[in-house]
Amino acid sequence: MTRLLIIGPPGSGKGTQAEHLARHFNVPAVSTGDIFRSNVSRETVLGVQAAEYLDGGRFVPDQLTNALVRDRLQDRDLQAGFLLDGYPRTVPQAAELDSILASLGTALDAVLELRAPDAELEQRMHRRAQDQGRSDDTVEVFRHRLKLYRTQTHEVVSGYAGRGILVSVDGTGEPGAITALAITAVENFLATSRGA
Ligand code: ADP
Repeated sequence: MTRLLIIGPPGSGKGTQAEHLARHFNVPAVSTGDIFRSNVSRETVLGVQAAEYLDGGRFVPDQLTNALVRDRLQDRDLQAGFLLDGYPRTVPQAAELDSILASLGTALDAVLELRAPDAELEQRMHRRAQDQGRSDDTVEVFRHRLKLYRTQTHEVVSGYAGRGILVSVDGTGEPGAITALAITAVENFLATSRGA
């Protein structure tokens, strides 16, 4: 039973690391960004509502995002644990997550933060723009996403640090090396906090 979050700035490789971590800890990865993108491309009601926010690099409103996560966290496949990627990003979302988990009788075990400097993140975004052509990977939109991360999501990260459940890892370097570092850091943290 492991309930994890992964938090990192845009371009930090959060999505890639989330997949590796989820496999290692044997829990499903839930990415709000992926859920939104998939709804946008299928043109569902949620997708139509979310599209303009994604394209502008803005946060989808908390009300919409919270409802989506509340629903998803009730699913059976997540009862034995999960890795949330991309949520929470705002202080109200973090409060909502606490309340969702409390109502399910659980709480977070650890929060993994990937750290990387802005200049490196922007370079990676340029590479990703060529490979994947994501509509929010343009210089202007990317800078806005980064700004939101450094301001609003920073507060979320500080909150978890204050609770003593934050595990921070240097997100620069080889993806494989970062995965190894992240797994070791989270395992050590869980072993210590569970008194093993
Ligand atoms: P990145 O971390 O590279 O910005 P994500 O896939 O995590 O990419 O998110 C892409 C976009 O999806 C965000 O810019 C935002 O518009 C939307 N989104 C994802 N998660 C959230 C969230 N928790 N709250 C609000 N908007 C979100």
